[in-house]
Amino acid sequence: MNDEQSRALYDRALSVMPGGVNSAVRAAIEPYPFFVRKGEGGHVVDADGNRYVDWVMGLGPLLLGHDLPEPVTAAIQRATSEGPMYGTPTEVEVDLAEFVARHVESVEKIRFVNSGTEATVSAVRLARGHTGRNKIVVMQGGYHGAQESTLVEGDLESRSPSSAGIPQSFAEHTIPVPFNDEAAIREAFDEHGDDIAGVLVEPILANYGIVHPIDGYHEFLREITAEHGSLLIFDEVITGFRVGGLGCAQREFGVTPDLTTFGKIVGGGFPVGAIGGRAEIVEGFAPAGDVFQAGTFSGHPVTMAAGLETLKFAAENDVYDHVNGLGERLRAGLTDILADQAPSYTVVGTDSMFKVIFTREGPGSGELEGQCSAGCTQNPDCPRYEYCPKNAADVKQAETERWRRVFWGQMKAQGIFLSQNQFESQFVSYGHTEEDVEETLEAYKETL
Ligand SMILES: *Cc1c(COP(=O)(O)O)cnc(C)c1O
Repeated sequence: MNDEQSRALYDRALSVMPGGVNSAVRAAIEPYPFFVRKGEGGHVVDADGNRYVDWVMGLGPLLLGHDLPEPVTAAIQRATSEGPMYGTPTEVEVDLAEFVARHVESVEKIRFVNSGTEATVSAVRLARGHTGRNKIVVMQGGYHGAQESTLVEGDLESRSPSSAGIPQSFAEHTIPVPFNDEAAIREAFDEHGDDIAGVLVEPILANYGIVHPIDGYHEFLREITAEHGSLLIFDEVITGFRVGGLGCAQREFGVTPDLTTFGKIVGGGFPVGAIGGRAEIVEGFAPAGDVFQAGTFSGHPVTMAAGLETLKFAAENDVYDHVNGLGERLRAGLTDILADQAPSYTVVGTDSMFKVIFTREGPGSGELEGQCSAGCTQNPDCPRYEYCPKNAADVKQAETERWRRVFWGQMKAQGIFLSQNQFESQFVSYGHTEEDVEETLEAYKETL
């Protein structure tokens, strides 16, 4: 595979951008990332003309794939041609807010911002303002963007910022606990209950796994936060409008959070974030309330048009059937391949998300009867149950180096673009086809 153009571009990029990239994870590909020239359906074509089946899909936003349907393209072009933005409200913001409030049960009011990071920054500030408390509980390995209050590692006893440039005082107010561990949350509330503003959690750990919640975990979070007057905040930046269709993961799990952060899909491929929830809480944002929040580009008309038309298209067409069906075929096909070739590995994911985690231990190949057939759902009756990852520490134990240094490159050489490391989810789009799935399964079969 020729990569001269990508190498030359990366060489130039290194001279003018730190690490040659504008987002840290993009440099994870070694020795250098390929530069994309364009997308086509479920594929990308790089600067050297190589074509890949793309399961990264912009790291999540591209529900419809690279070729946007005509109504979506038309709405984006209309919004662009009318002048990109104004600094005063537009109708399309109201339309998208109404759409989200109509489909996501917990959302009565919503504020749009420009990234998932901005959404979680504002949600944390809102939770603190609403409760008058300082601390937030997050999950180890959970990702909520590049922000001070969540780039914290450690546990209840000892914690510190996970990045240079963040004062230790932020870590005092952020308590990471293991996902799926009720006792750890109880301890955090026993010790700091009257100062915990909220629990911020991805309904499915999608940036470190994928890890599915054990049965009853979110109900437990709902109860313990309510009991202590803390807010339950679902970070649905990835799962929103992907898991559980237009109702999001909260509908799938039947749990109603107080606040939800959105991003990725809700902007139809343009920069976006949003904070939605109970009116009484969201009204805390200025100017209705006293929690300051503002943004020059917030509610950007082009983004709002792209998001609205994307979600309307999904509502009116077989988008979720298509992506979830292909997701199911991928996960089921991978489950069969692993049974033959790598029985200790675990297939994870749900709906249109999938991944293989290179877990080191599992049941013997004769003991797979009754296992989760299309991705781990933490079913206690599955023979894999005691081995499948329940939290970030379990995922970290997996064969990360083999995944990244051996497996990933061999898949790329066969024209399959997977996410850059063991931890991030892979996504099916409306642009993918059954042939893409078959080609991908063949490549896994060849490589594993
Ligand atoms: C991507 C992501 C974010 C951050 O969103 P950006 O738009 O990259 O700032 C926050 N939370 C979760 C769960 C995400 O996956």
